[in-house]
Amino acid sequence: MNMKGQSNQQSANAGGNAEELPDEVVQGILRLLESARVQDMPCSEVFARLDQYAERELRDHEAAKWMPLLREHFDICPDCCEEYEALLRAIEHADRERGSAAPAPE
Ligand SMILES: [Zn+2]
Repeated sequence: MNMKGQSNQQSANAGGNAEELPDEVVQGILRLLESARVQDMPCSEVFARLDQYAERELRDHEAAKWMPLLREHFDICPDCCEEYEALLRAIEHADRERGSAAPAPE
C-alpha cells in the first residue's frame, strides 16, 4: 500500500469583503469616537490641567473658551469644580502675597 500524493492544501477562503466600509464612513466613525472620548474627560486629565486652566482664567478670563471641556467637566463633576475653585483662590492669594497686586475688581 502506498499512499502518496495526498495533498492537504487548503485554499484560503478569501470571501466576505463585502462589508468593507468606504473611507468617509470610517472617518465619520473616528470623529464620533473622538468627540465621545473628549466629552467624558477623566478627572485625572482635568487635574493635570487644573493649574494651567486656573492661571489662564486669572490672567485673561479666557480659560473657558480655551478649554471648554474643562468648563463642562466642572459642571458635571463637583469634585473637580471644588478643586478648581480652591486652586483659583490659592493662586490669587499667592499673587497677592508676592505683591504683584493687580487691582482685582470684585
Ligand atoms: Zn472630575
